[in-house]
Amino acid sequence: MAKDLAAFAEKNGVKYFMVSYTDLFGAQRAKLVPAQAINDMAVDGAGFAGFATWLDLTAAHPDMMAVPDAEAVVQLPWKPDVAWVPANCVIEGQPLAQAPRNVLRRMVDEAAAEGLRVKTGVEPEFFLLCPSGDRVADEYDTAVKPCYDQQAVMRRYDVIAEISDYMLALGWEPYQSDHEDATGQFEMNWKFDDALATADKVSFFKFMVKSVAEKHGLRATFMPKPFEGLTGSGMHAHISVWDKSGKKNAFADDSRELGLSEQGRNFLGGIMAHGTGMTAITNPTVNSYKRINAPRTSSGATWAPNSLTWTGNNRTHMVRVPGPGRFELRLPDGAANPYLLQAVIIAAGLDGIRRKLDPGPRSDINMYTDGHLAKDAPKLPLNLLDALRAFEADETLNRALGAEFAAAYLKLKRMEWDSYVSHFSKWEHDHTLDV
Ligand code: GLU
Ligand code: MG
Ligand code: MG
Repeated sequence: MAKDLAAFAEKNGVKYFMVSYTDLFGAQRAKLVPAQAINDMAVDGAGFAGFATWLDLTAAHPDMMAVPDAEAVVQLPWKPDVAWVPANCVIEGQPLAQAPRNVLRRMVDEAAAEGLRVKTGVEPEFFLLCPSGDRVADEYDTAVKPCYDQQAVMRRYDVIAEISDYMLALGWEPYQSDHEDATGQFEMNWKFDDALATADKVSFFKFMVKSVAEKHGLRATFMPKPFEGLTGSGMHAHISVWDKSGKKNAFADDSRELGLSEQGRNFLGGIMAHGTGMTAITNPTVNSYKRINAPRTSSGATWAPNSLTWTGNNRTHMVRVPGPGRFELRLPDGAANPYLLQAVIIAAGLDGIRRKLDPGPRSDINMYTDGHLAKDAPKLPLNLLDALRAFEADETLNRALGAEFAAAYLKLKRMEWDSYVSHFSKWEHDHTLDV
């Protein structure tokens, strides 16, 4: 029996619900609904004008209705008058096929039909900037090697501890926070969970980090590569598959290479087979490609992959197996839509399991200094257009995520690309004027 949101409001002193969905660009859109009206909305949903939903609907479409998923409601720890509730998108009584949360729910159901439960832990990185968004807010945070900087993380104690306290109160089991390898950059980690729960948590986390930062006069960004010459913001995913009960990790097998079971290896085989096609989802913006194609320096300061390779506990590859029973996909960035990220991982992995794909031999070289030795390793797409073409060509991913989704996503993302290429940059002027 689903939670009764009106009763939830009564019990917890909630005055408003933020009925929220995530569009195809990964942005969250919401209506603020008074508690007295929420039980009607729980049946019919909150209405949104099609064209403004960024779900590839036109102005002539009937309203898109966002039906709150009461099980996933979260009271805002920083504003307890309000509760956020992720919604499932419906149009004329039918689930809207291209809506990201619906795409993920379908993939979760497909995995469940085969007795599999995908669990993921996501590691979001973000920058804390001035309100204008053009520079790091902390003027003391200028170290050339800022990773794990003790002084700098303590200067942001008020923000980081506030968010961590909220995660503790929400039962997310946070376990560490640090200053990352760019000035102004941080990462916060909490316990892994089922794919849909993790996607909801990542969405809420982004909303929470931005809200708390604003409260402290700062601006938080998950932009993949906000500054030239500084490492970007990843959204690494640690993946494992469990049995139906959620108690037995089907990826764990101590007798196998790196403690990864045959099934885990097949799932990884699917990720490697679809790595190029999935990049359009895991790295969805024009800016994403500045992160994964950053120049390799001798220190390896980029920390992001540029080739389809996998390894043991070595951070210079696209996939790292840090210990038995799971692997880390280091490809995704901070702009990845939290729902589509999980959905495409499941789509690729299930194909690997079904076709018993092998990821091929692992490589243990330092990809930053010796990448030239991995001559045969396919390269990740160089830009968003190449990535969109690779996704379009990947029939398995298109079929799994759904034809309506694939068409809508490609259409909106091509519009983004067209807008980018028609932009005239200062670089072109500077490099061409005197030719
Ligand atoms: N910031 C790096 C990235 O863009 C990741 C650093 C790390 O290994 O945590 O993926
Ligand atoms: Mg990190
Ligand atoms: Mg990581």
